[in-house]
Amino acid sequence: MLKPPYRDTPDLRQAIIDACRDMNRRGINQGTSGNISARADDRMIITPSGVPYDRMTPDMLVSIPLDGQGEPEGSLPPSTEWQFHLALLQAKPEMHAIVHAHPVHCTALSINREEIPACHYMIALFGGNSVPLAGYALFGSEELAGEVVTAMRDRHGCLMANHGAVVTGETLEKGLWRLEELEVLARAYIISRSIGTPHILSDSEIDSVLGAVANYGLKTA
Ligand code: 13P
Ligand code: ZN
Repeated sequence: MLKPPYRDTPDLRQAIIDACRDMNRRGINQGTSGNISARADDRMIITPSGVPYDRMTPDMLVSIPLDGQGEPEGSLPPSTEWQFHLALLQAKPEMHAIVHAHPVHCTALSINREEIPACHYMIALFGGNSVPLAGYALFGSEELAGEVVTAMRDRHGCLMANHGAVVTGETLEKGLWRLEELEVLARAYIISRSIGTPHILSDSEIDSVLGAVANYGLKTA
């Protein structure tokens, strides 16, 4: 398993592709939706736009300078969402991976323009007492990048209005893990509402979880 700080090697590129295939296999994304990037030194390595993951090869990934100065390097266009990937990696130096997908339950809540409240203690994996909703903007736009970065100012994930979800990861593996946990939260929240009235945890209850959860999970990642 690769550990950050990552370098732009064929192994890193393959790990990004494997993570993409994994998110589709786990049922938290479908088709060519979604995109994944990783920080490699002073570059961002990101999936190309619109390529089916089972046909993606390491040479198809695109390298973009992290400071945004200079041209992308690659034979294919980068993901249309490269701007929010870049902005998140710039804003969060401790994060080494960004995972965006269209998980069905996250997307359903985003269509209703709802955030996820503190309906389960695992909300703390996202850094606070909610998973916020980023405002709607055209996919691939600079405006969407602004909405996502604003929503995630003090969070490790957000829903994206009428679109999907995005999470950060200390590693690629943790990014994927967080995305799967987010989809489980969204699903549980929707089900709990369909059978009654969810009980929302208080700020002080979540504060205690935030401390306890800080070192939870994937220590070897
Ligand atoms: P790309 O194929 O360009 O990465 O786009 C997929 C997507 O989810 C856009 O929001
Ligand atoms: Zn998308």
